[in-house]
Amino acid sequence: MESAQVPREKMNKKTSHKERTPWFPLQGASLSHEHPLSAGRGPEEVLELLQAFKKGGGTLIVDVTPKGCPLRRDVELLCSLAEEAEIEVLFGTGYYKEPHLPLSIRKLSTEEIAEEFIQEIEEGIGETGIRPAVIGEVGTSFREITPLEKKVLLAAAIAHRQSGLPIITHTTHGTMGLQQVEILEGAGVDLRSVIIGHCDLNPDLDYNLEIARRGANLGFDTVGKERWASALPSEVIAHRPDEDRIRLILELCERGFGENIVLSLDMLHKERELNPRTHKKHGYGYIFVFLGRLRQAGLGSTECANLARNNLRRILGRRGGE
Ligand SMILES: [Zn+2]
Repeated sequence: MESAQVPREKMNKKTSHKERTPWFPLQGASLSHEHPLSAGRGPEEVLELLQAFKKGGGTLIVDVTPKGCPLRRDVELLCSLAEEAEIEVLFGTGYYKEPHLPLSIRKLSTEEIAEEFIQEIEEGIGETGIRPAVIGEVGTSFREITPLEKKVLLAAAIAHRQSGLPIITHTTHGTMGLQQVEILEGAGVDLRSVIIGHCDLNPDLDYNLEIARRGANLGFDTVGKERWASALPSEVIAHRPDEDRIRLILELCERGFGENIVLSLDMLHKERELNPRTHKKHGYGYIFVFLGRLRQAGLGSTECANLARNNLRRILGRRGGE
């Protein structure tokens, strides 16, 4: 009908004139891999970031800041900010990667490192009485796993077997994820309880498919971090556009691995300036922009809810949360 065609054309002209920021709010949205106290310049800014997350329906953030790493780990402060923002935070126990591993653990055995993790899990972090809900992030270097990093991974495996808590890893630029899977599986870890971190920094579909086929989960946990200060001396600024993450997610979902992906931003204050249209502009609220972009790219609302809420809750042994 001609009369119907005219207004549609007009509408198209209007929408193409000014592009609107996509936004897909999701009640119960959860972030799997964050360092909230290092995401803002101070507690007030951190609170604002948490509130931006709450505004889109966010209810849960996992703080995976390990022991003895340069990022701020203050569970009582974060708990009080989270309470004010009316969201829930969970904590991890673990050691990061070289060169950020404390000298003191060099002389410890795998079992002794595991004992440290288990003590925090059973008795709480420091004197706070707040018990970790995950083991991590435990990490490995770029294209290599050092003997000490392997020892920490094996200690994480022992702590997992004893406590049943899931393990969240760090990979550097999305390398060595498969080797992490090998080590953890060989140490008797149930891979359904493992999130291999920063898989979205590796654009290789086969790498991601192989990790998911083994039964582990893929951390698409640097969403919006399109530019960041690389740990590698050869590249001062590293680059991974969200278009790559969206393409990978669509391919993985198409192949039936939509229940193996969890989302997060891994947002750090020092890198927000490098990402003005994502982390800088929206803070933790960027997750809802990214979900909106996934919807625009054709991903269904159920798949989005799995990625941003249900999968992580399953891994954490929780149900519901809406
Ligand atoms: Zn990490």
